[in-house]
Amino acid sequence: MTTTDKPGRQRTSTKAGQAPPRRRSRKKAAPSIPVHDAIKLMTAEYGPFPEEPRLDPIHELTFTILSQHTSDTNSERAFRSLMQRFGSLDAVAEGDVAEIEEAISVGGLAKVKAPRIKEVLGKIIELNGSLDLSFLREMPLAEAKAWLRQLPGIGPKSAGIILSFSLGMPAMAIDTHIYRVSQRLALIGPKVTADKAHDLLEEAVEPEQVYPFHQAFINHGRLVCKALRPRCQECVVGHGCPSKDGFIKAAEKEARAAERAKARKGKAPTRPRKAAAQAPHAYPEV
Ligand code: SF4
Repeated sequence: MTTTDKPGRQRTSTKAGQAPPRRRSRKKAAPSIPVHDAIKLMTAEYGPFPEEPRLDPIHELTFTILSQHTSDTNSERAFRSLMQRFGSLDAVAEGDVAEIEEAISVGGLAKVKAPRIKEVLGKIIELNGSLDLSFLREMPLAEAKAWLRQLPGIGPKSAGIILSFSLGMPAMAIDTHIYRVSQRLALIGPKVTADKAHDLLEEAVEPEQVYPFHQAFINHGRLVCKALRPRCQECVVGHGCPSKDGFIKAAEKEARAAERAKARKGKAPTRPRKAAAQAPHAYPEV
């Protein structure tokens, strides 16, 4: 299913690096590929994507906070260090913020994340009586998301990660790659925010396809549909991408400009001769 913020109009230009420049050609852009076809083609190209064992929900939640604005490597180091120091998340919930901060300092932003982790764990115990979040699996998806979203610092992406990857529920977790590729393929409109994209893509993707969708779109965004110079000529979904022509034209224009600049440089007079003619000491003393 294709969704746009303005049904019937599929505009393809927005911010730099995220959408192609305006087209001058009157040729019609390719119609957007159905999302299940895109998943199939990308899976054939980058997959298969076997499901990996993940953390249980409360550990996933804590890890998700540690990974906000941090690389995977650093967040893994911070998580390991936290667990080594405290032994359990119940102990972290009881722990001193300064001690949590020290334990996670290897991951960065420890001053912000330490009080957040303590607050979230405390709030879960207050609401639920324990840190066991397995009850979320029994809830309808919307309710499970709303339950997690009431926690401090848990937005749609973090809630989606916990529900999808830890609890196996069909929740979307839209990262920068999924968001960019979905916009370029016009699965979401150019003005749809990342938060809103969670709901729209959840409606568009069949529940059993949510996991392969995440994997396929992340791989495609990382390897081919890159932020600045997407490799449209080698794209497996290019035939169904309304943004392709715009990006190819922009790349050709850039290449022509580079050629012209190179040619101008080749024709320019050489500086040393001109400098020698003008330099006072280039003439013999008389
Ligand atoms: S053709 Fe492929 S690489 Fe190019 S913008 Fe579309 S999806 Fe991205």
